[in-house]
Amino acid sequence: MDYRKKFVLEPGTKVRLSKINTSFTGEHESHDKATQEIQRHVERMSQLQYLLYADRDKSLLVVLQALDAAGKDGVIRHLFSGMNPQGTSVFGFKQPSAEEAVHDFLWRAHLHTPGKGQVVIFNRSYYEDVLVVRVHKLVERSVWSKRYELINDFEKMLIANGTTILKFFLHISQNEQLSRFKQRLDDPSRHWKISETDYSERALWPEYMGAYEDAFASTSTQRAPWYVVPADHKWFRNLAVSRIIVDTMEEMGLRLPQARVDLAEIRRKYHRAERERGGRK
Ligand code: AMP
Ligand code: MG
Repeated sequence: MDYRKKFVLEPGTKVRLSKINTSFTGEHESHDKATQEIQRHVERMSQLQYLLYADRDKSLLVVLQALDAAGKDGVIRHLFSGMNPQGTSVFGFKQPSAEEAVHDFLWRAHLHTPGKGQVVIFNRSYYEDVLVVRVHKLVERSVWSKRYELINDFEKMLIANGTTILKFFLHISQNEQLSRFKQRLDDPSRHWKISETDYSERALWPEYMGAYEDAFASTSTQRAPWYVVPADHKWFRNLAVSRIIVDTMEEMGLRLPQARVDLAEIRRKYHRAERERGGRK
C-alpha cells in the first residue's frame, strides 16, 4: 500500500480528525510481518542517510507532532536507531527558554534546522506556536493567526535551500491515550514520563483537535505535506512512518559523490608508499 497517498493531507482540505480511524492497520498487515518490514525500512533509511551524508548537498527535516503518549519518542527510538549519529540529530521543543522567548517563534527552530548532509528530527516543533500557544491563549489570535503564513514562508525557504520536509501527526484516540497513561502509572520504569499536565491537556482534546485541523488546512502544502498516521497500534505507526520516510528519501536523488581527489595521483602515492615500506623491511 502507498502510505504516502493514503495518509497525506491534500493542500487546502480541512480534515476532521475525529472521523479518522486511529486503529487502522491496513488490510494485509500483521504485527509479525510488519516487524520484518520495519527492519528492512530501518536498514534502507540507514543506507540512504549514508548517501545524504556523503553527498552533503541536501538535507532532511522530520517534524513529529502529537498529543501526549502518542509515540513521538517511540518513533525516534525505533526508526532512527540505524542512522549514523554523525549526521543525525534530534531537537525537542519544550516551553521556550528565556532566551528563546525574547526572539521570534521561528528563531529556535531555525537554529536547529539540518545543514547539508544532515537529518534532523523535531520532537514537537514550531507548530507548537499555533497549537499549545493557541489553545492556552498564550498570545492573541491576531498574533498566532499570522503564523501559518510565516510557517509556509519559512518552509519554502528551507526547501529552496535543499531541505526535504516531512511532517507527521501521530494520531491516537482518547481511549488509547488513557490506556497508555495507565501503563505509565503501572510500570515504575515509566514513571518518569508522567507529567503534571497530562490530564489538564487531555481535558483540552477538542481544542487541540481544532487547532491541529486549522494548522493542517493552512500548512499542508505540495512540497511539505502533512501525514496523519493512525497510531493506536505502535507497530503500524512504525511501519507507516518508516515506509513514508524511505519512499521520500528514495526520491531525493541521493548518490555517492565523485571522488574529490585525482585518484590516479593518489594511487601513484599509494604505490610509492608501498615500495618504500618494502625497502625498509
Ligand atoms: P514533552 O514533549 O512531553 O517533553 O513536553 C514539552 C512541553 O512543552 C509540551 O507540553 C509542549 O506543549 C510544551 N511546548 C512546546 N513548545 C512550546 C511553546 N512554543 N510554548 C509553550 N509551550 C510549549
Ligand atoms: Mg509529555
